[in-house]
Amino acid sequence: MRRISIFGATGSIGQNTIDLVRRQGGAERYRTVALSGGRNVALLAEQARELRAEMAVTAHEDCYDALKAALAGSGIEAAAGAQALVEAAERPADWIMSAIVGAAGLAPGFRALAQGTTLALANKESLVTAGPLLMAEAARHGATILPVDSEHSAVFQALVGEDAGAVERVIITASGGPFRTWTRDQLARATPEQAVAHPNWSMGQRISVDSASMFNKALELIETREFFGIEPDRIEVLVHPQSIVHALVGFTDGALMAHMGAADMRHAIGYALNWPDRRETPVARLDLAKIGTLAFEAPDADRFPALRLAREVMKTGGLAGAAFNAAKEIALDHFLARRIGFLEMSAIVEDVLAQLSGENCLRNAPASLEVVLEMDRRARRCAEEVVAARAA
Ligand code: NDP
Repeated sequence: MRRISIFGATGSIGQNTIDLVRRQGGAERYRTVALSGGRNVALLAEQARELRAEMAVTAHEDCYDALKAALAGSGIEAAAGAQALVEAAERPADWIMSAIVGAAGLAPGFRALAQGTTLALANKESLVTAGPLLMAEAARHGATILPVDSEHSAVFQALVGEDAGAVERVIITASGGPFRTWTRDQLARATPEQAVAHPNWSMGQRISVDSASMFNKALELIETREFFGIEPDRIEVLVHPQSIVHALVGFTDGALMAHMGAADMRHAIGYALNWPDRRETPVARLDLAKIGTLAFEAPDADRFPALRLAREVMKTGGLAGAAFNAAKEIALDHFLARRIGFLEMSAIVEDVLAQLSGENCLRNAPASLEVVLEMDRRARRCAEEVVAARAA
């Protein structure tokens, strides 16, 4: 039986993954080694019982007793904390889903690669913070990383059977989010509730807000660069409000291969789960005659500075991605807590990058997990100081 583990099982990607596993026979067909979650221990325990997992891990030590109680009598092992997550990732499995949100997903995914497994990577922060390290670790252990982000899965699929040397450019699309047509004045007053209401995709809270600010697309620009090894000036972002074309690959002969599909993450997750085969997934089939026209427009760098910041980060290289992501995560926390406005998020990230750049530490190579995590902590401290200074 194929052994699988799912990190971030209780989240949006995690639940969609379990939905597909269930449709493909669940515990009859898959041996679930580990499932992880955060505070939603009731759902985690329910999932672990359904898939007859060997272990369930909550990221939070204060949730251990609740998880243990919810698993009582099941024979499923309970564990808690960051170290337990890493240990769970080291347990042998043939396919591991990395779908924890934020930089917290980096260490478990990184450690999973050492078993030479297949890592389905939804956690884009891993490549943004430590791309070269992650790709080198995968190569060293003969592990396979499969992209789960819809745009990157689309590029990956468009490249099947193609000569990588014939790729001229990659275009990733962005819906533009709920604020695509908003003015800067409107953006300045945007609330978390408005930011979370994505027009096309149903996703976790944090990535939904990142989509509204275009920080999600900024992370994806860096992710494209790291995963496919394409030079930044050959990666473009195109706003496509309908979210039907997920990405396009342009070749040297002028051909442009587009990947189209419904806005349903079960396509990209299913592709990674069944790769290199394709299997039936329950996503809606497109009726192009009904859709009629597809709309595209250029992104507005003035209202959405995140893309410009991502290009600066790619230019700097080194640990700039780790700093960028950490600063963004802190700014997002403060926006969700209503302590800062929507537009302040990018201003804070820009301040943090400027400050750390002045300290000459961003260009250092992401030589080890510890070096990356140290930059993550440093940028978080710096972002908190920037937020406090703005409030004073
Ligand atoms: P969710 O917020 O829905 O779920 C996040 C998961 O991570 C939950 O299981 C949550 O547990 C767990 N978690 C939260 N904080 C921590 C922590 N500190 N340590 C360990 N686990 C934690 O996120 P999504 O599913 O939307 O996104 C997951 C990842 O996939 C992100 O990196 C996102 O950018 C990426 N992604 C998501 C897409 C989507 O459509 N949702 C599309 C493409 C990429 P609990 O809920 O129990 O607290």
